[in-house]
Amino acid sequence: MICAYCGEESKGTKEHIISCAILDLFPECFATIDNIRGKIHQGDPMVKDVCAVCNNKRISYIDSYAKQFVSTYFIRKYDKDDSLEFEYDYTLLQKVLLKYSYNDLRSRKEDTSFFTKSVLEFLMHEDITQPLRNVTLLSGLAVNTSPAPDYMFGNNKIRWGKNPAMLSNSIIERINYETGEIHHRENNSRQEFEKLNFSYVFRFNSVQFLLLCWEHDISDEELQKNNIILKYQYPYTMLTEEGHHSLSRCTSETTYHFEMLIDVSWGQGIFDDITWMRGTYSDSSQQYLKEVEKAWNKEEENLAKKFPR
Ligand SMILES: [Zn+2]
Repeated sequence: MICAYCGEESKGTKEHIISCAILDLFPECFATIDNIRGKIHQGDPMVKDVCAVCNNKRISYIDSYAKQFVSTYFIRKYDKDDSLEFEYDYTLLQKVLLKYSYNDLRSRKEDTSFFTKSVLEFLMHEDITQPLRNVTLLSGLAVNTSPAPDYMFGNNKIRWGKNPAMLSNSIIERINYETGEIHHRENNSRQEFEKLNFSYVFRFNSVQFLLLCWEHDISDEELQKNNIILKYQYPYTMLTEEGHHSLSRCTSETTYHFEMLIDVSWGQGIFDDITWMRGTYSDSSQQYLKEVEKAWNKEEENLAKKFPR
């Protein structure tokens, strides 16, 4: 076997697609739900084409950082209007999400042309602290504002997917505020981005990240144009080398349960109006939901005990 990182011939070891250290934080989510292959299984998602040296020595610092930021900020849930002061290491965060996407692409035998020798060097060397120019990261809080509790959709605290549908306009075209009638947009296309190699969405419990990997020859001008669209069109915060941003909610009652659907900012606003009109986020409904969730949290504790990692 040829190692996917160093390129040396050696025996393959099992590498977690999402760090084991992160999965360990959520033992109650014991099943892997693979929508693409239409399978549910109990084992962790893995790839087996990494040599022992890369797996245990060269790239393991990335997993340590992943565990650190998820356990610091995202074990807890957030409320609808919360904002979080998120301090992060931008380069390490790039490495975490690049590593996960690279693992996932290989496990699906998809195109990995983005991962050139220099990108792999970037991942393998802890001392490279300069972030990649042609990678964009966005982030926001995933907050359930719908009347449907998490477990109704499979209790997937960790989710990820390639090329989420980043829409060019709102899912809901308009609402009649007098009658409450809702008009869905009939033809909603994806936003086009020039020189996009691939994108990913990641959900780690209460946070969501978008990773966009641009072709290596993208010009500064093209990159800036894409980043302006991303920054102003979606309810996400763009992360930068500053390493400190405040994150707010990036989900609506619909997109919370369908992470592959990225609505525009004003689309999320329209959904918030619908939620408000229905009264599903009123104090009394929230009270009911909290009670149900309390019972569910107890059940999660049982599940965590029943399926120790
Ligand atoms: Zn290797």
